Amino acid sequence: MIKAYERFLRLEECQNIGDLLRARAVYWIGGSFIVSQLLNLIFMTLSYGEWTADHTISIAAIFVVSLISCSLRYTKKYTALAIAYAVLMFIGIGASAVDGTVGINSALLPLLIAGIIMCGLISGGRMVIVFLVISIAFLGYLYSISVGAAEASKVFLTETYEVMILHRGLQAFIALSLVALIVSIFSSHMFRSFKQLEESRETAEDADASKSEFLANMSHELRTPLNGVIGMSGLLLKTDLDEEQQKYAKIVNDCSQGLVAIINDVLDISRLDAGKMKLRHEPFNLHDVISQLVGLHKPTAHASGLVLVMSYNPTIPKNFIGDGGRIRQIVNNLIGNALKFTEVGHVKVIVDGKVGQDDKFDLFIHVQDTGIGIPASDIDRVFGRFEQVENSLSRKTTGTGLGLTISKEFTDFMGGEMIVRSRVGFGTTFSCNIPIETDMGKCEIMTSANSAHENTATAAPIEVPHVERREGRSRRAS
Ligand code: ATP
Ligand code: MG
Repeated sequence: MIKAYERFLRLEECQNIGDLLRARAVYWIGGSFIVSQLLNLIFMTLSYGEWTADHTISIAAIFVVSLISCSLRYTKKYTALAIAYAVLMFIGIGASAVDGTVGINSALLPLLIAGIIMCGLISGGRMVIVFLVISIAFLGYLYSISVGAAEASKVFLTETYEVMILHRGLQAFIALSLVALIVSIFSSHMFRSFKQLEESRETAEDADASKSEFLANMSHELRTPLNGVIGMSGLLLKTDLDEEQQKYAKIVNDCSQGLVAIINDVLDISRLDAGKMKLRHEPFNLHDVISQLVGLHKPTAHASGLVLVMSYNPTIPKNFIGDGGRIRQIVNNLIGNALKFTEVGHVKVIVDGKVGQDDKFDLFIHVQDTGIGIPASDIDRVFGRFEQVENSLSRKTTGTGLGLTISKEFTDFMGGEMIVRSRVGFGTTFSCNIPIETDMGKCEIMTSANSAHENTATAAPIEVPHVERREGRSRRAS
């Protein structure tokens, strides 16, 4: 409810933490005043037993305070809002004091103190001082009312009464000044600290943006000459070379390709950091994408004595609308890892799905291996940047530790989630769930996916349970 009210007040427009705090103070103070007046109405009704002028005043006050609080939706001028509250407060106190010719009374002090705190929270130290000065002037005015009332009534000995009232006024003055001093110092410090915090955040963000931009530019600049090296060494390999030259040219070609892969990863990361990542929205054939990928990795799998298979649920659609390139990159990373960290057995790519929400299809892609597995103590960090788990294959395998980071961030960016289940010595399954559009009508999706759903049990990956790291749907595709 509070969130909905904040949305109504458009608090997301608040520029910084300080402004958010001021805005919240405006509506919380307004809210607590309204609650207190509602209680007041109940008590008045119980004690008076009829509708009185006090009831009307209370209702009017609730109405005005609600207006001030709701006006946050249209204005974020906090000092003006604090002034509006303060004026209302002085009118309320003044009216009751003049009406009853009470003048200075002990109920005043808490109200004025509340006003000082209200000014400190909503506006700041300067407004506290202004409020204090007006309060003191106000006390003087109320003092004159009290004395006048005493003289008129002739009940008390005027001089004694004057001294008593003056005494009360002085006490109020001292208490108010002390509170105002504390609140104004505290409020100035608080808002200054918020400002400093905001400035440091902006500086850090600027530095981060420059770093990402530098990385992106550097990576881009490095990629161009490297592509030349790859192209030329590729051409060189096709020429008539002796065995030794062939070996050296191949090393040059392999190393440059490895370097380009790293640079591409760094480019992807800096694009994500800079918020410049964009998703394509075009039709693609997922079945073709996955089978081509599997075909591409088959030679590596065979060379390592592994079986690489694909299981595409025949009842789910093949054509989707989205970023096929990014999905290819995700699955490519997962298959690459599975092959890298599996010494015997198989690697299986399972594609399945079911009808999702908002006319979308919930696509599931599992890459399951019978490899070394990931220890429970390390599973939390595999999605982290440059994180690699120390294991028996660490020395033999290559990589920078960016593949999973990119895959997870792409999945999140598409509004999906990626989870991993692993058991040391038994294998690992990375599962990626992506909501995606199909190029079929909703009816057709429903029909095919219902059967797809029934099929899930058969297509589900072998269980490698116990250890699980779940990544939330943190970023949605825009
Ligand atoms: P890169 O992908 O950047 O070339 P990498 O493969 O080492 O390097 P990630 O793909 O991010 O990096 O994987 C991070 C780490 O998670 C790996 O180094 C490995 O220790 C562990 N890991 C990833 N996939 C598996 C898997 N299928 N089985 C066992 N460990 C894995
Ligand atoms: Mg990898």
